[in-house]
Amino acid sequence: MSTTQLLQNYLGGQWHTGTGQGTVLFDPVLGTELVRVDATGLDLKKGFAFARETGGNALRAMTYAQRAAMLAQVVKVLQANRDRYYEIATANSGTVKNDSAVDIDGGIFTLSTYAKLGESLGERKFLIDGEAARLGKDPLFQSQHILVPNRGLALFINAFNFPSWGLWEKAAPALLSGVPVVIKPGTPTAWLTQHMVADVVNAGVLPVGALSVVCGSSAGLLDALTPFDVLSFTGSADTAGVIRSHPLVAQRSVRVNIEADSVNSALLLPGQAAGSESFDLLAKEVAREMTVKSGQKCTAIRRIFVPEALFDDCAQAISARLAKTTVGNPRNESVRMGALVSRSQLHAVQQGLAQLKAHAQVLHDGASHALIDADAAISCCVGPTLLGSRDANQQVFHDTEVFGPVATLLPYKDLNQAYELVRRGEGSLVASIYGNEPAALGAAAVELADSHGRVHVISPDVAALHTGHGNVMPQSLHGGPGRAGGGEELGGLRALGFYHRRSAIQAATTILSGL
Ligand code: NAP
Repeated sequence: MSTTQLLQNYLGGQWHTGTGQGTVLFDPVLGTELVRVDATGLDLKKGFAFARETGGNALRAMTYAQRAAMLAQVVKVLQANRDRYYEIATANSGTVKNDSAVDIDGGIFTLSTYAKLGESLGERKFLIDGEAARLGKDPLFQSQHILVPNRGLALFINAFNFPSWGLWEKAAPALLSGVPVVIKPGTPTAWLTQHMVADVVNAGVLPVGALSVVCGSSAGLLDALTPFDVLSFTGSADTAGVIRSHPLVAQRSVRVNIEADSVNSALLLPGQAAGSESFDLLAKEVAREMTVKSGQKCTAIRRIFVPEALFDDCAQAISARLAKTTVGNPRNESVRMGALVSRSQLHAVQQGLAQLKAHAQVLHDGASHALIDADAAISCCVGPTLLGSRDANQQVFHDTEVFGPVATLLPYKDLNQAYELVRRGEGSLVASIYGNEPAALGAAAVELADSHGRVHVISPDVAALHTGHGNVMPQSLHGGPGRAGGGEELGGLRALGFYHRRSAIQAATTILSGL
């Protein structure tokens, strides 16, 4: 039996130790045991009721501006403890410093953005939605829509790849809306989430019951939900299906947001020569997207579409960049790409790669990368692999998300075929488009908007300014239709919609103007 530290859960305003053996969390580079998580024996229904009543009442008693100030306090607590978060990320996620920053600083930045946005909502306790509308000839009786904070809790079931950002990008709009949060992190990397929650709870900057954490098994979580709760899930399409069809979620009309997997695209528009600025920008972005966080980003580029005449040049340009990626132990300063998160993820990546390889040629082989300070028999490190096929019609390329440093280069004959191939992904989080003619780029962006939550347009004039294909900015929508889950997160104050109820108040104009 493992004797590593058992992390505590925080629920019902108290710390609880699970009564089971727990699940061990590992260092994915060294293979050593780190900590354990366990939620056995927690009274979830009682804890959820406490969050709704004690946490929810306290949050709803505050104005938006007060809650925005509260988020700013959370930012200060997290900033004061940043070094420790980086240590945990290195040990438990196996990420190099830049990749840990995407998660840790990305989460803190998102929180501070919502703290600023919240200030603009002022000393109000509910929001006015649009103009009042007359209900008849007489203007005396009208309808005014308002948005009031949900009277339930927000349960977040998160994926393993963003233990920090995944928590705060959801918690920021929820807490700003006045809705208490219960977070259930992805088990393999739950340590960072648990540690951040512990720091914030112990600092006393949130009302008791506003933020709770349950680590370990998800058993019983959905059964503890009631009709006014909301559930936000991030993870695989398979688990999303289980959650959507859970009987209580369906019977109680629990509002659900799903962020699932997605086979995102990069598209080089016609008319770009090999070695042109747009061509180079595509090669650079693809190599970056494949290697940041070892490709474990839901937004990472998985399919690259280029005019067929540029297939070979593109294969060479991307491969040349990938060849420079040093892979291994993130503690070694020379390493640029760390590990996958666990042995089971390593096996999943190997399986997905084998599946794609059966239909594609290997343009750059991840196996050609010698691991630095890491033992291939123990660590979860893997080099980046670029695949390619001249037959872009094979559905396997459009269906298969390998959650690692793997992407496939595919040629197209004309733009209509390119759009058709991109849409074979059946809905994605993001597509990026590369070219140098504003009208053509604008038209392509509108064309792909129906099947993507975000379209990232990279032209030479924004080469040094753009925020990156895969970087999710709090100002922009995150989520995509179809396979991507159909959810919507962030997008500035739009995110607050999920945590509010809209109601139409039909009343005399004097009453409405008093609102
Ligand atoms: P996962 O296996 O679906 O797990 C996601 C979460 O669901 C974890 O917290 C997991 O808990 C929990 N879970 C598992 N079975 C459950 C059940 N029956 N009921 C309730 N909860 C359950 O996904 P993952 O492997 O952690 O994450 C990788 C996937 O997430 C990738 O496919 C990636 O594309 C996707 N992702 C999407 C986004 C996005 O924003 N669209 C962001 C990041 C990742 P345990 O960990 O304890 O099993």
